[in-house]
Amino acid sequence: MESRYTPAAIEEKWQKSWAEQGLDRTSTDKSKPKFYALSMFPYPSGSLHMGHVRNYVITDVIARLKRMQGYRVLHPMGWDAFGLPAENAAIERGIAPAKWTYQNIAQMRSQLQRLGLSIDWEKEVATCSPDYYKWTQWLFLQFFQAGLAYQKEAAVNWDPIDQTVLANEQVDSEGRSWRSGAIVERKLLRQWFLKITDYAEQLLNDLDKLTGWPDRVKLMQANWIGKSVGAYLEFPIVGLDEKIGVFTTRPDTVYGVTYVVLAPEHPLTRSVTTPQQKEAVESFIQEVSNQSELERTAEDKPKRGIPTGGKAINPFTGEEIPIWIADYVLYEYGTGAVMGVPAHDARDFQFAKQKNLPIQVVIVPSKEESAELQAAYTEPGILINSDTFNGMDSVEAKQAIVQYAEKQGYGKARIQYRLRDWLISRQRYWGAPIPIIHCPSCGSVAVPDKDLPVKLPEDVAFSGRGGSPLAQLDSWVNVPCPTCSKPARRETDTMDTFIDSSWYFLRFPDARNEKEVFEPSKTNDWMPVDQYVGGIEHAILHLLYSRFFTKVLRDRHLLNFDEPFERLLTQGMVQAATYKNPVTGKYISPAQVNPTAPKDPETGDALEVFYEKMSKSKYNGVAPEDVIENYGVDTARMFILFKAPPEKDLEWEQADVEGQFRFLNRVWRLVTEFGAKGASSNKQNNLSQPEKELRRAIHTAIKEITEDLEGEYQFNTAVSELMKLSNALADAKSKDSPIYAEGIRALIRLLAPFAPHIAEELWHLNGNTDSVHQQSWLKFDPDALVADEITLVIQIMGKTRGTIQVPAQADKQALEKYARESEVAQRHIEGKEIKKAIVVPGKLVNFVI
Ligand SMILES: [Zn+2]
Repeated sequence: MESRYTPAAIEEKWQKSWAEQGLDRTSTDKSKPKFYALSMFPYPSGSLHMGHVRNYVITDVIARLKRMQGYRVLHPMGWDAFGLPAENAAIERGIAPAKWTYQNIAQMRSQLQRLGLSIDWEKEVATCSPDYYKWTQWLFLQFFQAGLAYQKEAAVNWDPIDQTVLANEQVDSEGRSWRSGAIVERKLLRQWFLKITDYAEQLLNDLDKLTGWPDRVKLMQANWIGKSVGAYLEFPIVGLDEKIGVFTTRPDTVYGVTYVVLAPEHPLTRSVTTPQQKEAVESFIQEVSNQSELERTAEDKPKRGIPTGGKAINPFTGEEIPIWIADYVLYEYGTGAVMGVPAHDARDFQFAKQKNLPIQVVIVPSKEESAELQAAYTEPGILINSDTFNGMDSVEAKQAIVQYAEKQGYGKARIQYRLRDWLISRQRYWGAPIPIIHCPSCGSVAVPDKDLPVKLPEDVAFSGRGGSPLAQLDSWVNVPCPTCSKPARRETDTMDTFIDSSWYFLRFPDARNEKEVFEPSKTNDWMPVDQYVGGIEHAILHLLYSRFFTKVLRDRHLLNFDEPFERLLTQGMVQAATYKNPVTGKYISPAQVNPTAPKDPETGDALEVFYEKMSKSKYNGVAPEDVIENYGVDTARMFILFKAPPEKDLEWEQADVEGQFRFLNRVWRLVTEFGAKGASSNKQNNLSQPEKELRRAIHTAIKEITEDLEGEYQFNTAVSELMKLSNALADAKSKDSPIYAEGIRALIRLLAPFAPHIAEELWHLNGNTDSVHQQSWLKFDPDALVADEITLVIQIMGKTRGTIQVPAQADKQALEKYARESEVAQRHIEGKEIKKAIVVPGKLVNFVI
């Protein structure tokens, strides 16, 4: 009954059969423990790339394993479907964004289905569908009612030619518009924000609960939140009844403040400026207003600033110090003003040197050292020139100076975060409309629940010019106020797509609910996600926003847990070889290159070879369809799992893909040659030595693979164990033994989560009629692992002379005795005196003669 392994035939057959049997449907059997396995959902760009394949295969193996281990598993998929590319397609090619998006979804869904992923497609969601964004809007109103959604002015990218707001992605590296090429300006608009800063402390503290997250992701989140403990200090302005407030983490350096700096936009800037400086200050403000935040704060750029002519008083010293304005101080951050301590801050040192500002040393490394500075001294030390604090340790001085400031009314202790409120307004069409109506009498009024969703109108023209397409549609914009019925205007901003993805995982447990965002009992039952898998590029924003949403909805009594994702796996990139001409800088397609001696076919230059992320521009992409067509899905899956641990980058090697194909062929031959023989065997007694060894190999594989899949998901070593087991079976002497039959079946069952199609086919060829995916995960027999005998190495004067078999339980003394009496030792020692015997239990005996 031997046949050839033909992946295409069996893969499509089983995918169809599994779908008909409903094998991937989410179990509702509450007697089983739950397991929620989730991949970060994709943007429907229209084509699946290798990075997607790796992400979804990793999650699929985990989902399949957990089902076999007796869990009820939720493994859904959806589409992060709003966003700019659909709108750009509409502008450039005249395709309606909805049509473009749904075409792409259909195409990618069939590509995903071809991968044999055990996804419950009945739970599919698309964020652009009204039955989803109805609830995105409803959730926005939850924030609005809780006082966590508000409007304020903020800067946008403004294209002065097309008269439109641009997304950051539509501005090139030179600050020009993608369409008109105009230099982009900054313009203030009234926009919506979510008050994530109210949750800064919780978002930071709860990172400690995330023991199943990579440390690096937690660190990135902590840095993004950026908690600083310090002091708020006030500097009175000379000649005005006003004070400049600053935040500092270094109150211990306050006696070294020699100037203060305001953000150019600071409301006090104009009042402190002297008539002589007025013109220069105005033109500086104008210049800075067109710079982006990134340009202003870039580390490698010289800091620009000018004096206002105004003066402030350092309340600690009573001295007058100049007030400057500079581009690196941002009004949106902190108080919009900073104190300058050039002696103890690297940036201030650079600025003071450049601008010839005084430098006053107030901390020295130790009492003896001189205070001559070549660079800012930023380490702790001993205070000098600090009045009553002289001689104090600088770390202790922080608290003492804050206490003194509080007593004197100069300031107080304060905690500040780098995190700012989340700007969610987008002046675009393809997003969820913000469900607010602006009434001249009632203000901003929530759209009543019964009127949700606020649907996107379909009769829209996309020119890429003028305001948002929604703002140009009078019939959509002009509506009566829900409260007083007077004429009012709809909000025309749509929401940041990060909002759509901040709650999608809460919808999957109850994806078809038309009456509620989700039934809390269902979502609370499945959440938190037990294993979340996705790219490191989402380490900050997506994960932080999802955690924020979870906490707000918990406080609104919709959820009963604190954190949405129990464990997080950030998979590495998929890279492939690229060939680059070092002279011209051009990438050359691998198809034109002889890999053993890579040369540029045109110029003849020797090429450099790198491994880089797959991309079209570098000609190193490998299409998933091509691999599937040539080798089948199971080989692609095995390669991805075997080539590298999941969190590491993976280098695509054709030879290794073929290696996995050969391995699956070897398994195929092993099983088909054996056929359907051998009923299940519980034979454990009276085994021959080779049978015992084979049984040990089988149970070692079960143990090792199970351990590799616990915790860290070391798929690569698990696949190695599968290979070892297949070798042990191939080498087995007695293929009629029931132990051999046990081994064949174990191999198929252990292979099932990795290569589900071939495993199912072989399971049936082995004579079974049910699905291999409904079998329970094997448990190892500890007795089978115990070796009765071990191999002991005999050495004479450190040189290996031979080996003997000895009982595994033998102690040191017994081992020495076996070794002395062995024929090997007798032969080499013959007549000489043994001075010493060194015994390494379980390994060797070395005789010194
Ligand atoms: Zn009204």
